[in-house]
Amino acid sequence: MSKWQCGVCGYIFDGDEAPEKCPKCGAPKEKFQKLDDDTAAKVERSRYTNNLHMELLTLLEKAKEVSEKGIEDELDPPCVQIFEATKAFATDIQQRIKAEIKGHISKNKWG
Ligand SMILES: [Zn+2]
Repeated sequence: MSKWQCGVCGYIFDGDEAPEKCPKCGAPKEKFQKLDDDTAAKVERSRYTNNLHMELLTLLEKAKEVSEKGIEDELDPPCVQIFEATKAFATDIQQRIKAEIKGHISKNKWG
């Protein structure tokens, strides 16, 4: 399957042919250009990485939930320290992932 990019908004469409009109901005079929194999491969790589980021976000969210339960449970100070450190770490990485994904989107790098 080939990839087609909208020359107006940058939207990338997967298909054997360009769509009749852009699903994002409504530009006509003629505005689409076929991506060369190299660029199409980069788009796939980028999508894969974004999915990994999304998966990590979910796992980190779970780590935060568990940490909050531990902090609430408050068995003893060393335990609470571990939960607090985990929560802070998970929050930090989540912010970095969100900034990274936002960067990809704003640069409109590979759709
Ligand atoms: Zn478009």
